[in-house]
Amino acid sequence: MQGKEMICIVCPLGCRMKVSKNEGGYDIAGNKCLRGEDYGIKELTNPTRILTTTVKIKNGLLSRIPVKTKEPIPKSKIFQCMKVINSVEVEAPISVGDVVIKDICGTGIDIVVSRSMEESIN
Ligand code: SF4
Repeated sequence: MQGKEMICIVCPLGCRMKVSKNEGGYDIAGNKCLRGEDYGIKELTNPTRILTTTVKIKNGLLSRIPVKTKEPIPKSKIFQCMKVINSVEVEAPISVGDVVIKDICGTGIDIVVSRSMEESIN
């Protein structure tokens, strides 16, 4: 079977899988459970990831604050999303879950703050 080799990241077992498309659906080998099957098909057809990074923050206790996508986004859009995220600056105080960018790059997914940060007194 020719196909894409991958490691399932759904649970810590990390099964090594091989996934390929056939006429009626998919051939999947190496998974120990059905969750791996779902992961393998998604990874072959539309791989997605949660994107975690940081953005600049004004008047905060630190100069950057961690942010992430609220849901996984297509892997193919990560580079484009990073360009947008790198152009943004937020202002303290800010709370965990606050939306930094709405519907980033038309994915329908928001970028949210992963931790709260108080305003710096200085
Ligand atoms: S296939 Fe199932 S058992 Fe294997 S890593 Fe994925 S979720 Fe875990």
